[in-house]
Amino acid sequence: MFDTTPNIPIQELKSALLSVNNVQLFILRDDLLHSEVSGNKWRKLKYNIESAKALKSDVVVTFGGAFSNHIAATAAAGRIFNIKTHGVIRGEEIKALNSTLQKAQADGMTFSFVSRSDYQNKELMVGFDNILNQFDAPFIIPEGGGNSKGVKGCSEIIPNDFDFDLCALACGTGGTMAGVVSALKAGQAVLGFPALKNAGFLLNDISAFLKPFDSLVGSWSLNLDYHFGGYAKKNNDLIEFLKSFYQEYNLKLDPIYTVKAMFGLLDLIEKGQIKNQKVLFIHTGGLQGIKGFEDRYKLTLFD
Ligand SMILES: *Cc1c(COP(=O)(O)O)cnc(C)c1O
Repeated sequence: MFDTTPNIPIQELKSALLSVNNVQLFILRDDLLHSEVSGNKWRKLKYNIESAKALKSDVVVTFGGAFSNHIAATAAAGRIFNIKTHGVIRGEEIKALNSTLQKAQADGMTFSFVSRSDYQNKELMVGFDNILNQFDAPFIIPEGGGNSKGVKGCSEIIPNDFDFDLCALACGTGGTMAGVVSALKAGQAVLGFPALKNAGFLLNDISAFLKPFDSLVGSWSLNLDYHFGGYAKKNNDLIEFLKSFYQEYNLKLDPIYTVKAMFGLLDLIEKGQIKNQKVLFIHTGGLQGIKGFEDRYKLTLFD
């Protein structure tokens, strides 16, 4: 079902900044993995959907915000792999479905909307039993696909035959980062850029994701400085950077995650904190979120 050996392009990015600092920068285009189930969400769904099918579950139930890439990806995967999907969506006051939820609905996903306070408790929330009772054999995937099956899928992101010193990527739950860390070779490191504010808790979460792996040979760290005010927040510098990056490389970053990580990476290179290294940046996808972001902020990111 899921193609386990897709041929993902790796492109070199060149600039004066990079050559001055003796950095070779490559970008792994996981955003091209699938046109609808893009990037890391496809990786995280792979073993989850396979398990749901193997268990003969009649529906996949999962969680997310109204603009969530994971909700979009799960709905599309459900349509493609012929399994029903149900999204438990954070936010009680959704009057008209936004572009993400419209597409998810068109892909066959049904929804329950829950208040922000109830949502905090996810699987323990009041009323979750009633949601599950609608189904015979639900298969539950946590928010963002963040479980051990999701991490396993993400361990397949980096191709075996591509050498690098440092891998850089964006973090939400840290599940993708954990998967990548689990696949490192000796001497390699991963640097994660959380898109959320106050994301220090991810150190614990990522350590927990990594517990089942007994021989880890790479190292990893987080840089918490490039959240731009928090999840889905932005400022002019970030938007200008997104646009100029597109102009320079003809390559779209997503406005929630990958743009912050790329901004952070290039800023650290400019400050001389990363130099003389071969760096692999993982484009984790998320381009479905562009439309919702543009609508929300009433701006155009790509002309
Ligand atoms: C969800 C997402 C992330 C974060 O992935 P985690 O595994 O939750 O850290 C990063 N980039 C994009 C484009 C995403 O959609």
